[in-house]
Amino acid sequence: MNNGNTKFIIGGGISGLIYGFYNRDFQIISPDIGGKLKNSYLTSTILLHDTPETKRLLQDLNIDPEPKAQVMRYFYQDKLQENIPANLKELMVAKKLTPWEDLNKLNFDFKITDTTLSTDDVYIPIFKIPLDKVIKALAKEVKIVKDKVVRITENEIITEKGRYRYTDLISTIPAPVFWKIYGRERNLKSLPETFVLAKSNPVEKTSLYWDLVYFLDKKVPYTRVNRYSNDSYLYEFTGELNKTQIKKLLPKAEILNVYTDRYGIVITDLNNIPPPNVRFVGRFATWNHTCKVQDVIKDSIARYDFLSIWNKQKEFNANFFDFNVRDIELQQKLTKEFVLHIEDEAHELLREVNWKMGQYKHIEVDRGRLLEEWIDVFKYWLGLGNVWGFTLEDFVNEFWRKSLIVDERFKQYFKDNDKKVDDKSSG
Ligand SMILES: Cc1cc2nc3c(=O)[nH]c(=O)nc-3n(C[C@H](O)[C@H](O)[C@H](O)COP(=O)(O)OP(=O)(O)OC[C@H]3O[C@@H](n4cnc5c(N)ncnc54)[C@H](O)[C@@H]3O)c2cc1C
Repeated sequence: MNNGNTKFIIGGGISGLIYGFYNRDFQIISPDIGGKLKNSYLTSTILLHDTPETKRLLQDLNIDPEPKAQVMRYFYQDKLQENIPANLKELMVAKKLTPWEDLNKLNFDFKITDTTLSTDDVYIPIFKIPLDKVIKALAKEVKIVKDKVVRITENEIITEKGRYRYTDLISTIPAPVFWKIYGRERNLKSLPETFVLAKSNPVEKTSLYWDLVYFLDKKVPYTRVNRYSNDSYLYEFTGELNKTQIKKLLPKAEILNVYTDRYGIVITDLNNIPPPNVRFVGRFATWNHTCKVQDVIKDSIARYDFLSIWNKQKEFNANFFDFNVRDIELQQKLTKEFVLHIEDEAHELLREVNWKMGQYKHIEVDRGRLLEEWIDVFKYWLGLGNVWGFTLEDFVNEFWRKSLIVDERFKQYFKDNDKKVDDKSSG
């Protein structure tokens, strides 16, 4: 069923569509187009932030970016407030991570120690254009097969209607779903989130304007409310609610729509690493709650081309030795030179952290400087490979050959240790 194509994207939400838009050699497989944003009212809570990446996307889609400030407020101690002390934000997070029915058990003994106001701006710069319009524009430009993936192996995608061989795979589906259909279980934590679109203003008696309000009091069962239209509002609850519970919690409201997102609140896990020929893109695939549309655009445009890095360094090293000359004496001498340089650069990296016993002068660890030193080690390391004429192909093949051996040794080590424990317990 491939028709010559071996590059696929799983999922037709905004992440899959953006990746497909910037990478036209990829084909999307998804039962729907738009994902969460099919529910147009969710576009009042999922915003297109004003960033260079989102501006570029709108320009590439010929959509006029209309900048706007989203006005955020806080409801605390029965009052709408323009801002809250920075440390009260912890209360907001604690509430968001507690299912609505457990809020009374939330033991958040909060003492205000810092009375300065948060420096976070409550006027969030966004683009006014609703994300469902962006979805429509993207969908016109990409190739989509309407189907659902039910199994993924190391080189094949099985769908409800067929099968596809793949070389490159982008997954935008929630990570727990990916791992399940990949045949591996992963313990990734999340909480469901329920969105209720209702005709009922949660803060009627106020003269303060707002687009979005965070509710901090424990007795209020929802975490935040977005203004959707002049008379309808989107309430967000942590956890699941049935119709009767919603009626009880919002007795005066006319309920227009309800949507529960099983994985709405993602508890970030940076150990969620994809298999070698797979890339995770988007918040739910990467399992990183900070991931937004602008990160998806960045990931879709970025080119991680190792061949050009390889060639760049080799070209630089050609200033110092002639690759046509095979001189075993010189190669051995240069090996010593490069190893010493690698070692020296590695020590420069080490000096960026507090590692010495009795190191009395504490240094601030600077990730930028660590990165620079790490690259310096890498440059000399590449040069050493150049000295012996290793090619990128040699590097890739040897990397995988050695990785399989290391994996095997690692498994064997645990097998042997388990056996020793079994032998001891049975003996
Ligand atoms: C309350 C809330 C607020 C948010 N606010 C923002 C915000 O302000 N700004 C921002 O940028 N982001 C925000 N996000 C994150 C946001 O949801 C995303 O950036 C975006 O909507 C996610 O799109 P997606 O394509 O990654 O996932 P989804 O929209 O979930 O799309 C996943 C797609 O995968 C498909 N799929 C699932 N299973 C399969 C399968 N087996 N086979 C094939 N296809 C499959 C689905 O049908 C769907 O099309 C927010 C999220 C939440 C929950």
